[in-house]
Amino acid sequence: MTGTRYGAVYWLDDCGDDLARRPALTGDTTVDVAILGGGFSGLWTAYYLLRANPDLSVAVFEKHFCGYGASGRNGGWCSPRYPVLVDELVKHFGADAARATFRTQRATVEEVGRIVAEEQIDAHFVPGGMLGVARTERQWARLKAAHAAYDRLGLADDADLISADEARERIRVTAVLGAMHTRSGASLHPARLVRGLARAVERRGGRIYEDSAVTRVRPGQPAMLETAGGMVTARRAVVLAGEAYLAGLPDWRRQILPMSSMIVATAPLDAATWQAIGWQGYESLSSDAYTKDYLTRTRDGRILFGSRGAPYLFGSAMPESALAEPTLYDPIIANLRAWFPVLNEVPITHAWGGYLGVPRDGMPSVHFDPASGLANAFGYTGRGVATTALAGRALAGLIAGVPAMVPDLPMLRAPGARWEIEPMRWIGVRYIQNAFARIDAAEFRNASPPIDAKLAKTLAPI
Ligand SMILES: Cc1cc2nc3c(=O)[nH]c(=O)nc-3n(C[C@H](O)[C@H](O)[C@H](O)COP(=O)(O)OP(=O)(O)OC[C@H]3O[C@@H](n4cnc5c(N)ncnc54)[C@H](O)[C@@H]3O)c2cc1C
Repeated sequence: MTGTRYGAVYWLDDCGDDLARRPALTGDTTVDVAILGGGFSGLWTAYYLLRANPDLSVAVFEKHFCGYGASGRNGGWCSPRYPVLVDELVKHFGADAARATFRTQRATVEEVGRIVAEEQIDAHFVPGGMLGVARTERQWARLKAAHAAYDRLGLADDADLISADEARERIRVTAVLGAMHTRSGASLHPARLVRGLARAVERRGGRIYEDSAVTRVRPGQPAMLETAGGMVTARRAVVLAGEAYLAGLPDWRRQILPMSSMIVATAPLDAATWQAIGWQGYESLSSDAYTKDYLTRTRDGRILFGSRGAPYLFGSAMPESALAEPTLYDPIIANLRAWFPVLNEVPITHAWGGYLGVPRDGMPSVHFDPASGLANAFGYTGRGVATTALAGRALAGLIAGVPAMVPDLPMLRAPGARWEIEPMRWIGVRYIQNAFARIDAAEFRNASPPIDAKLAKTLAPI
């Protein structure tokens, strides 16, 4: 049996290039726009800036290599779902803003598909929609409530509640009680997208420096970035696009909380196994568990099973080693086999994790402050594949001064509330992680929710 490579990211193994590093910055430089982070946020911002104004000089500074972060290791869901639940958006910003956000997000999925075709990025973009299955009575109640919330806003044209039998006709998952099928939404190869986007930025004249960690951000006129190899002066804007990793910068430590998510990948399945499972439509598949289960069928015939990750570490620490611990993946592998018993003997080839960013109030922030020269796009809480494209276009429009690129949406806001200081942060986040696992376990036993379920849901930002 093939051994599992813990810490190895399937997508990066299969990204179509050898991840050779671009040269680091050596010496000082001056550009119009300097971007921290070579993930989707930074690269979409660079891409749209250069499309809006090819005369701008734009440079990206990446600590490791483009796609090292969440962008190169996620579930590959290019989702029409915004990071914030529709009801929460209505509560905070009103029905019109919520409707506009969801419609724009849906249109962004299509725009990503158009751009990968235009730029000839082989990102395995398949507009197969999404299938959210309920595997407990309470999950089914939540799916119905979610559908009703879309319906109230006139957004249910895209989504149908379907019976267990109809769901099984698409994908044969055990214990399904019903499902929501959403027509919009695509599955893609995130590492091929992020690497291809980097090359598209370079074709349009952008510069990318890898192995170039930013060690300090200096607001001002002009704003500056410090790296070990040289100082960067940005005439127009410094863009902070480091998502979870922004927590590593002195002034941003409490602005975002790194939360891990973890994925296992099977070996490619044979035709008979696919025959047993179905899944001909490449839908993005999920359950409605609090600990989040998200699944993807890859072009080479694997199943990826992702789930909420490892326990939060004190002080927002993000060591790579914390996500290579084999025992962390045992429950995910067990869950995969409970969903698809036909996979009991199939090898798991890869098991990896990554860090996503959670803002204290759960709301993404896309912002440019000309006075300080600082701009940012972050806070996607695990739903960033499509949202980063929307954020990057909006931010590029703000910086380049092209209002038509900037939709009037709640995401256009300065960074919100900060996280609590330690040890309160650690105590609170660990408590919520533990409570969500207990709520899921009770739902599966068909037992009453834990006594503190309401408290945990109230405390959680999402
Ligand atoms: C396991 C996992 C599964 C996910 N699944 C999905 C999914 O299926 N669908 C979905 O919509 N979203 C998903 N997400 C979330 C999504 O991947 C992210 O929201 C999105 O990729 C964020 O992109 P980003 O560019 O903002 O951040 P990142 O991709 O994290 O990029 C930030 C970059 O900044 C660099 N950096 C950090 N510090 C510095 C520094 N000091 N100097 C220079 N560079 C620096 C990092 O190396 C990194 O490359 C998932 C996330 C994870 C971790």
